[in-house]
Amino acid sequence: MDIEKLIRSVQKELGVEVDGKAGPQTWAAIAKRLIPDQAPSLVSTAVTGLDARSKKNIETLLPEVQPYAVALIQKAALNGIQAKVISGHRTYAEQDALYAKGRPDNGPKVTNAKGGQSNHNFGIAFDIGIFEGTAYLGSSPKYKALGLLGMDLGLDWGGNWKSFKDQPHFQLRPSWANGMNEREMLTELRKRKSEDQKVFV
Ligand SMILES: [Zn+2]
Repeated sequence: MDIEKLIRSVQKELGVEVDGKAGPQTWAAIAKRLIPDQAPSLVSTAVTGLDARSKKNIETLLPEVQPYAVALIQKAALNGIQAKVISGHRTYAEQDALYAKGRPDNGPKVTNAKGGQSNHNFGIAFDIGIFEGTAYLGSSPKYKALGLLGMDLGLDWGGNWKSFKDQPHFQLRPSWANGMNEREMLTELRKRKSEDQKVFV
């Protein structure tokens, strides 16, 4: 049995997404199975010293996505980058309110996505802010470094988008969305939400 087959069979047994790659989701499920007492919540126990803002935002994400966000913050810290999760899940109403900012013509626009048009509306996306001490860095070469770390974990990175580069943005693509473009993935996410179906199966 090769290693990928082995990982697939372990993932099947654990009830996590079967993709043959042992990422944070698989490891979190293994930890939960082996040391259940020490893993009541992925977010609070996976990291010591996770800042309150990140923790609060990570907890709004789908359980399958949470370990990835934690792992990215951890990886950033190991690489000397102080990163926080500054945005997580948004409801359609919250997204509409964000869309209204700067429209019509009242200052800078914040987003081009209305409710149901952002991956943030489905708990699979989060935004990172990079800090130096208490200072928030709106732009920094560190965002690109973080993008590479995120992709290494298996996350989609907004810095790769063609039309609108969004370097602080990361999302976990469900395996059913492999090969889909953003629009196709959003259509399916909206459908699943309206039918009360899970994103990750
Ligand atoms: Zn985002």
